[in-house]
Amino acid sequence: MLDKVVIANRGEIALRILRACHALGIKTVAVHSTVDRNLKHVAMADESVCIGPPPSAQSYLDIPAIIAAAEVTDAEAIHPGYGFLSENADFAERVESSGFKFIGPTANVIRLMGDKVEAIKAMKAAGVPCVPGSGGPLGDDAVENAKIAKEIGYPVIIKAAGGGGGRGMRVVHTEAHLHNAISTTKSEAKAAFNNDMVYMEKFLENPRHVEIQVLADGQGNAIHLGERDCSMQRRHQKVVEESPAPGITEEMRAEIGKVCVDACIRIGYRGAGTFEFLFENGRFYFIEMNTRIQVEHPVTEMVTGIDLVREQLSIAAGNKLSIRQEDVVLRGHSIECRINAEDPVSFLPSPGLIKHFHAAGGPGVRVDSHIYEGYRVPSNYDSMIGKLIVHGADRKQAIDRMRVALSEMVIDGIKTNIPLQQRIMADNGFKQGGMNIHYLEKRLQELKDKAIGLG
Ligand code: ADP
Repeated sequence: MLDKVVIANRGEIALRILRACHALGIKTVAVHSTVDRNLKHVAMADESVCIGPPPSAQSYLDIPAIIAAAEVTDAEAIHPGYGFLSENADFAERVESSGFKFIGPTANVIRLMGDKVEAIKAMKAAGVPCVPGSGGPLGDDAVENAKIAKEIGYPVIIKAAGGGGGRGMRVVHTEAHLHNAISTTKSEAKAAFNNDMVYMEKFLENPRHVEIQVLADGQGNAIHLGERDCSMQRRHQKVVEESPAPGITEEMRAEIGKVCVDACIRIGYRGAGTFEFLFENGRFYFIEMNTRIQVEHPVTEMVTGIDLVREQLSIAAGNKLSIRQEDVVLRGHSIECRINAEDPVSFLPSPGLIKHFHAAGGPGVRVDSHIYEGYRVPSNYDSMIGKLIVHGADRKQAIDRMRVALSEMVIDGIKTNIPLQQRIMADNGFKQGGMNIHYLEKRLQELKDKAIGLG
């Protein structure tokens, strides 16, 4: 096993990684910004290093500062968590060239998956079903582009090869708007990602978001751990996630899972990863691969009983996968609600002091959060302050447990989206299951119209 790990992240995922390390007897180093010195995992870590001021660019994104922290503490490996540097190929490369283990795939694989055009090419070659599209970057020839769009069929979506976080995309419904849409997306992509390469895909109108979790050891072994449905989204941000995905049969799971496993072996994948698909009319369409642990990993852990962060650490230590595909059995149903420090109606961030905190509990209830009474939520970072996860024998029991757990949760002093999550759990469409990625925003708009007398 590894000896000492630097946790290059903050908040709930830093705590999650620390817990997995300590359970395995691995020593931990917390790195933090000045505003984060009171984070729970900083107090619990064996050592801690302040790496800079609050702005992420000067702390959690400062590669030399993080590597220096690993050097002064004589650490063996660095876990990037999610967000921040987790999908930065240059970081992975610098970590390894400085003599540390990067807990994730190789820099080359991160780079390949970070370029969406190249990623789609590699996935197509590996037999992964993709959205019908241009199959490569778009040039400046308007006639040629119009031909591509016509072949794909409108509506189409123009996407930046270097895009991320739901940015750098534009939907086009008619040929009249195509040329402008391509040039605007290009200049936006150039400004945002310093890469003006764009490509075209068929725009799927009512898809669900269904993703497959994989684990691979980089030594020729890979498995999948079933799927998650993350269709409850607002502005391309996931709000609620669950596993298994409603309506996905065992045969469908086995088939798409095997495709992902084969792709992992083919590209030499190492670590935990996620293949994201749009799912429409019973078919999967690959959109991108995330080469890191994801926020919603706990729902997979709850239904499989497999500790994904533990497996990440074991793989990074050079061990072969100890779990075989036939050992992976999905039991019951799990749901995760993201808890954000934000106004439940306006969605404006709500940082500040937590005056009173009471966590939910009971059978099948898990709280992954770093907050405590007296903790001040800073305004510098993402507004997610934790995750409430439940497990039940079936979907109905999971929803019932989530409803009770949300009502038990007390976070006083700041506003949270708990009231929104309660509304979602009580919503008939959500209860039915299998809603598409536009459902939540549509419902929110309906509620807003009603509130101002339009409905
Ligand atoms: P990002 O890396 O920015 O998250 P993705 O490729 O994962 O970009 O797409 C983000 C979201 O945009 C998807 O979850 C989906 O809601 C929407 N989207 C992307 N491609 C398509 C498509 N071809 N058809 C319909 N919606 C799409």
